[in-house]
Amino acid sequence: MGLSPSAALATLPSAFAAACRLSRTEGELFERCRAALVRRFRSEQIWLAVAAPDQGVSRVGPAQGFDDAVEVARLPSGETEIVVHAEPLVAGEMRAVAMPLALGLGVVLELRSILLDRQAALDDAVFQLRALRQVARLLSSVHSSEETEQLILDFMAEVFFAWWACLYRPNGESYTSKVFRSVKDEPPCLPIDRAALDDALPTGSAATGADDVAVAALIGTGAELVVSLDAGAERMAILVLGPRISDKPYGRAELELAGTLSFAAAIALKNAELVEQLHSAATTDELTSLYNRRALEDRLGAEISRSLRHQLHTSILLIDIDRFKVINDTMGHAAGDRLLVQIGGILRQQCRALDVVGRLGGDEFLVILPMTRPVESRVYVNRVLEGLRELERRHPEFGHCTLSMGVAESPRHGTTVSSLLAAADAALYKAKRGGRNAVEVADD
Ligand code: GH3
Ligand code: MG
Repeated sequence: MGLSPSAALATLPSAFAAACRLSRTEGELFERCRAALVRRFRSEQIWLAVAAPDQGVSRVGPAQGFDDAVEVARLPSGETEIVVHAEPLVAGEMRAVAMPLALGLGVVLELRSILLDRQAALDDAVFQLRALRQVARLLSSVHSSEETEQLILDFMAEVFFAWWACLYRPNGESYTSKVFRSVKDEPPCLPIDRAALDDALPTGSAATGADDVAVAALIGTGAELVVSLDAGAERMAILVLGPRISDKPYGRAELELAGTLSFAAAIALKNAELVEQLHSAATTDELTSLYNRRALEDRLGAEISRSLRHQLHTSILLIDIDRFKVINDTMGHAAGDRLLVQIGGILRQQCRALDVVGRLGGDEFLVILPMTRPVESRVYVNRVLEGLRELERRHPEFGHCTLSMGVAESPRHGTTVSSLLAAADAALYKAKRGGRNAVEVADD
C-alpha cells in the first residue's frame, strides 16, 4: 500500500511556505524549494526549471547529471511553466506525488506574487508616512520664509527622487523662481506668466503631470510634476519637479501624495509669512517704516551688552525736530507726517549698515552707532545736516528745518538702556535750551 500524498510530501508544504517568506528573488525561491526537495528525497540530483515563452529555460540544480534526469512534473503557471527533473532513482517516488508537488510549487509562485504586491503597497505606505513625518516636522517649528522655501524644495525633491526641483513664488505679473536644486545641470526655471497659469491651474487644483497640456505649455520643457501650494484661496507658490532619478513616471499615487504634501507646505509658507508680518508690525514704526520704540530699546540693550563684553564704545543720538509744532499748525498734520518721513529717510540713508535708526515717537528719533565715539559721530551728524539742506532744496514748502541732538556714549554715560537714554535726553534738553539747532554731548 502506497503512502498517502500528505505523508509522502512530509514537511515539504511548510518548507515551501518558508522559502516563499524568506526569498527576495525568484532565483532564491527556486534554490530554497529545490533544497527542500533535496532534503525530502535525499538526492542532490533534482532540478527545478522555469520555462518562459520569450526568456527560454532557467534551471536550478547541479551542473552534472542532468543528461540522465527524467521529467517528474510539469505545471503551467500563467505564462510560464514549472518543470521538475530528477535522477531515475528518485524519479519514481517523486512521480507518485507529482500532482501535489506541482501544485505546491504553483501555490508558492502565486503566494510570492501576492507577497510582492503587498510589499509594494507597504513600501508605498512607508514612503508616504516618511514624507508626512517630514512635513509635520516642518510645520512644528517656525522658520523664516526663506528657510521654509528651501525646506519644502528639499523634501519634495527627495520624496519624489527628482533630478531637479524649482519653487516659484508669485511676483507681480509672473511666477519667478525663488529656489531650485538639481543633481545635474541647472534647471530651466524661467518666469511663468502668472495670469495664464492661474487660469490653467486654478487654486485648489490637484497636482498635475506633464500630460496636462495647458500647464505644460506654460511651464516649459522637462517639467514632469507641477504642484500648486495653495493656502485656502491664496496661492503661495508653485513647485515644479523634473523627471525622477529612478526613471519611473509620476503615477497616480505620486500625484495624490504631492497634493497632500502641498497643502501642508502651503500652510507652512503662510505661517512663516504671518509670523514675519507680526514681527515686523511689532517692531516697525508705521509712519516712517523705521524701528519703533520697542525695537530700539531691544537693539540698544543688545548693543550695550556687546560694547561691555568687547570693551567697545557705542554712541547714541537722540534727535528732535526743532519747532515741529509750527509745521503741524501751519501746514497741517499730514504735512507734518510727510516731514517726519523725509527726516527719517535722511537719518536712515546717512548711516552705515550696522547702525540702527528708529523713531521713539512724535518728532523724536534715536540713532545707535556701534563702535563709535561721540567725536566720531560728528561725521554722521554732518552728513545728516547736509541731507537737511538737500531736503530744503527739494521741498522748500517745509522752510528751514533744524534738529537738536543729544549724544551719549556707553559705557561712559550709562550701562543700561534707561540710564543711557536719560543721559542723551539731558544732553538734548541742553541743546534745546541753548537755542536749538545744536548737538550736545552728555556730561560725565
Ligand atoms: P521743540 O523745538 O521744543 O522740540 O518744539 P516742537 O514744536 O518740536 O515741540 P515738541 O517736540 O515737544 O512737539 C512735537 C510735536 O509733534 C507735538 C505733536 O503734536 C507732534 N506730533 C507727535 N506725533 C506726531 C505725528 O505722528 N505726526 C505729526 N504730524 N505730528 C506729531
Ligand atoms: Mg520737537
